Amino acid sequence: MMTMKGRTVSAALASKKKGEQSNRISPELPTFDTMSILSGSHPEPVAPSGPANLAAPLPRPLDPYRWRPEFPILQRKLDNGKPLVYLDNAASTQHPQRVIDAMSDCYQRYYANVHRGSHTLSGESTLALESARETCARFIGAASTHEVIFAAGTTAAINTVARAWGDWRITANDTILLTIAEHHANIVPWQQLAQRTGCKLEFLPIDDAGEIADDVVEEHLRRTRPKLMALTAVSNVLGTEYPVERWTRLAHQAGATVLIDAAQAAPHQPLDVKAWDADFVVFSGHKLCGPTGIGILYGKRELLEEMPPFLGGGAMIRTVTTEGFTTSELPTKFEAGTPPIVEAIGLAEAMRFVDDVGLDAIHRHEQQLAAAALRGLTPIEGLKIFGPPADRRGGIVSFVVEGGHTLDLAHWLDRRGIAIRDGHHCAMPLHQRLGVSGSCRASFYLYNTLDEVEALCAAVAEFHQRFIAKSRKRNPPSV
Ligand code: PMP
Repeated sequence: MMTMKGRTVSAALASKKKGEQSNRISPELPTFDTMSILSGSHPEPVAPSGPANLAAPLPRPLDPYRWRPEFPILQRKLDNGKPLVYLDNAASTQHPQRVIDAMSDCYQRYYANVHRGSHTLSGESTLALESARETCARFIGAASTHEVIFAAGTTAAINTVARAWGDWRITANDTILLTIAEHHANIVPWQQLAQRTGCKLEFLPIDDAGEIADDVVEEHLRRTRPKLMALTAVSNVLGTEYPVERWTRLAHQAGATVLIDAAQAAPHQPLDVKAWDADFVVFSGHKLCGPTGIGILYGKRELLEEMPPFLGGGAMIRTVTTEGFTTSELPTKFEAGTPPIVEAIGLAEAMRFVDDVGLDAIHRHEQQLAAAALRGLTPIEGLKIFGPPADRRGGIVSFVVEGGHTLDLAHWLDRRGIAIRDGHHCAMPLHQRLGVSGSCRASFYLYNTLDEVEALCAAVAEFHQRFIAKSRKRNPPSV
């Protein structure tokens, strides 16, 4: 049941009608008139006020054991009786009960399609959807809910920008600047745009620690004069945290529009889109304790207003005749068709949860886990760890065992209940730069513990001892 502080959406709707102030943690109520939502028109909402986060960070360090009981799946034992050690959070995170409850409460009590409905359930669902948008706007520090578009995820959001902004703005003479550390989601849509327009792609190189110096960025901006710089805030392989605020300033000075892929940042550190000042910021819900099928496309309002829509259909239009159409206002201009209603409700609840834990505390906790993993893995002979020191990375550690296959190591760990990811992690150009075809990746979140990191390091060391060191003794390399 979506009963934060005992309030359901119906109760919230009723109290809103009575003019009661919503409290911070309850599913927030839109600050615009309910009737206009029901009719499908979006008047100017009041800009969400206050800081980017919904609450101040916890003053004390994060205790994962405080939060683990809220995640039903973490109580699970695998078929071989091993407890689950879930270290695949960069791919997708797990869900606290309150997110599952918020979504099932909608399905069980007030689900209906949104906007334009004149019946009670449609009104309640619409209210919950638009309340969720307000929560998302607050979570990222957006100036207005007009700037918060519900997309299917990071990939869909980047493709929307590539189609809507890219097809409108990019010509054969233009250059798009990326980094070599991008996820395929932030490479392929631009390659497709290059196929359509003839524009050029340039890649910022990384150094051996997976970092990029400011002067490399400045030199590329000066030389290539890109129309767009699109970069990840945190590498999903190396864990490197790139200084997006500084680089956005440099890119703007060079006249470029900036897109930030925050898929590995938004769930793990406070995000303030106003401070970053990027033109577009995108991320997914399922890496933030939320459901799949939803993500956020943030765009600066002037830009979104000017841009043509990408997908056409219901909801994104104001009028349609046999001759043509006019578009609706933001944000629905970019939300053709039925939006991810229940997913938005789940995402908002996930954001409230993550905010209750405290994003500063989450960030510090993950850095401690990454530091512990680096300490535990570094002494293992023949292990190559990629990326920068712990103080400049998030909770992601990727490595290979020389002489061992990443798939064998992943299976070995899985038999011990430890879930990591192996392969290219949708970053083939980066792995090519690293000189390997794939890697093993352990990625942490708020519920992971130092004991789990120790279990990982011990199991990797045992794998090395059993399969690499022993076979070397039997067949020493010829000199
Ligand atoms: N960018 C980065 C940095 C990612 O880590 C991911 C997910 N691995 C994506 C984009 C794509 O996200 P999604 O699959 O949710 O669209």
